[in-house]
Amino acid sequence: MKQSLCAAYARLAVKSGVNLSEQQTLLISADIDTVEFTRMVVEQAYEAGAREVLVTYIDSELERCQYRYQDEETLREVHDWQIDKQLDYLKKGACCMRIISPHPNALKDCDPKKMAIRARAVGEASKEVQEYTLASKAQWTIVAVPNPEWAAMVFPDQVPEKALESLWDAILKCVYVEEGIDPLITWQQRDELFQQRIAKLNSYAFQRLHFTNSLGTDLMVGLVNRHVWGGGSEVAQNNVRFNPNIPTEEVFTAPHKDRVEGRVVASRPLIYNGNVIRNFYFTFSHGKVCEFDAEEGREVLAEMLAMDEASTALGEVALVPYDSAISQSGCLFYTTLFDENASCHLALGSAYPACLEGGIAMSEEELKDKGINVSLIHVDFMFGTADMDVKGESAPGTWVPIFQNGNFVL
Ligand code: ZN
Ligand code: ZN
Repeated sequence: MKQSLCAAYARLAVKSGVNLSEQQTLLISADIDTVEFTRMVVEQAYEAGAREVLVTYIDSELERCQYRYQDEETLREVHDWQIDKQLDYLKKGACCMRIISPHPNALKDCDPKKMAIRARAVGEASKEVQEYTLASKAQWTIVAVPNPEWAAMVFPDQVPEKALESLWDAILKCVYVEEGIDPLITWQQRDELFQQRIAKLNSYAFQRLHFTNSLGTDLMVGLVNRHVWGGGSEVAQNNVRFNPNIPTEEVFTAPHKDRVEGRVVASRPLIYNGNVIRNFYFTFSHGKVCEFDAEEGREVLAEMLAMDEASTALGEVALVPYDSAISQSGCLFYTTLFDENASCHLALGSAYPACLEGGIAMSEEELKDKGINVSLIHVDFMFGTADMDVKGESAPGTWVPIFQNGNFVL
């Protein structure tokens, strides 16, 4: 891939992504395959005035060994320093970036129970750290970089070098990095559209959303009172505007954890802890999954639903037009960052406190009281299709069309 385009992408992550402030510290967690790109980001961050840039590399092969060889007691142990090294910087005003390079099958043969034990332990220990992202206490962003194995999954019919090149092309197209155009300006213009759409959705204050399509989805999603739609850029508590996801095509809000009824059929596979779950559905009653099945990965899905008592309820409902760039690419990326932006999606587990008016200042108990779901997990799954219809209830019995045939009509 052309160095100039990669550099533009790195600059986009620093400028539009975290929108690093002068003299701010940047914490980067990067997958080991991204060394070259991560170095570019570090350079761009210092160029943008970073005080200090810290990189922690993550290796999915080491993770696989961890699940294979460590016993459950060891997996339950999270050492204070592992949390504190991040928390210390975050408390002092750092922002954070995650640079992923997925290996969708890396943890395929790992014991789902062991992975659940580790996920729960890390989830509990890092609650305070996660507040920085979940409640946008600091600016944060996530970007993705190809690797050969991932490219081979997305483009199985191409020779390795061609596949890698194709994945770079597809990614850069989805994040609007192209020759001769400043992506920072494209992102700025697109964000204005997002903010208009959000303002419109907020003005209706829908009580419920009704989703239907020919795949078999017939789902009624109650929304919390005084919910707020989010999408595009956000403003962190330090008043800096940032883009949490590169790319992004979604607008989203918080479902009421007890008011979801009906059936939702997934339209794309879900990758959870390195496992692929295919052709699955959930049936909801009083907000909780009461029945589910999957053609592939049912056991992993069961472990996920059993994570805690809130993991069977929804924490996010997101609208993504079928004509979005990612959807039109026709690619299945096997990673949520891209696939969730190709399709309307829901998430099981925690909701974003910012999706409720005043939610960021509320305690866990207050949030739950208002119908906001609080869980150790937040797992997105896709259910949008080309024939998705969505209606919103603006007053009892009054339904407003939001989506027709997969796209916005509101
Ligand atoms: Zn989402
Ligand atoms: Zn989500």
